Amino acid sequence: MARTDYGNFLKRLYGCRVQKLNVNAGFTCPNRDGTLATGGCTYCNNSSFTPKFGRASATVTQQLLDGKQFYKGKYQSVKYLAYFQSYTGTYAPESKLKLLYEEALSVPDVLGLVISTRPDCLSDEVLDLLAVINLRSKVIVEIGIESSHDKTLQLINRCHTWRCAVSAVERIVSREIAVGAHLILGLPGESQADMLATARAVAQLPLSTVKFHQLQVLRGTKLAQQWQRGEVALQEWTAQEYAIFCRQVVDCLPPSMVVERMVATAPAQMLLHPRWGLKPQQFDDLFHDL
Ligand code: SF4
Repeated sequence: MARTDYGNFLKRLYGCRVQKLNVNAGFTCPNRDGTLATGGCTYCNNSSFTPKFGRASATVTQQLLDGKQFYKGKYQSVKYLAYFQSYTGTYAPESKLKLLYEEALSVPDVLGLVISTRPDCLSDEVLDLLAVINLRSKVIVEIGIESSHDKTLQLINRCHTWRCAVSAVERIVSREIAVGAHLILGLPGESQADMLATARAVAQLPLSTVKFHQLQVLRGTKLAQQWQRGEVALQEWTAQEYAIFCRQVVDCLPPSMVVERMVATAPAQMLLHPRWGLKPQQFDDLFHDL
């Protein structure tokens, strides 16, 4: 069975070609606001993946309209998904989430929601809300799992366990909502054998999609300080070596699991390590040419 690519997965789910539009709804995260911790995950710098049109100061509607404008003319007959990517996309009371999600879905041509969140921020009330929305506008929940090793999760200050992630995936799937996992390869203290063990553990979960990327050391993060002081040893792989390792990771996953992406590309001015200077398409070409 050939693995479906992410574009075709979305096309099948939504019935047409769709483009994700980032929305910054002004959420924070329990790992930052003091509920669980204040410093956040050691590698976290949300600015690295927030485009210009994802400004928390603008309304959800305005951000989506700006996003549509940005992509206007780039593709023919494209529809959109509201992508609640910044921080923790379910971290608000259910009543507020309902308003924000419904506002997104009321924007013309927005067909569904993709919600990125932590495994410990999915109450039954929130999942029930998503299940109701999912009946008319498909929802995908992306869970930050990062690693199956609790020792690593502790080291990077995730403040949740692998067991918590497994339970979140099961609870989402029990409501017939598609779920994707996010993993990071090259976390401090992990060998390649550890990362492959995570891939094999993730392969056992009822996931629709998986996305992973190399650990990036970004300016202004705790990880950057640790790395500059020599307190953490990180993978020194080249882009080619990383691509070869990605092949091993992908081979651990069942063909039914869609691989959304394998590399992250933070803006050059924010990135300290590894500085490969590749665009996502260039990395994909490298991977497919192996
Ligand atoms: S990576 Fe996610 S969970 Fe961790 S601090 Fe950043 S927003 Fe919060």
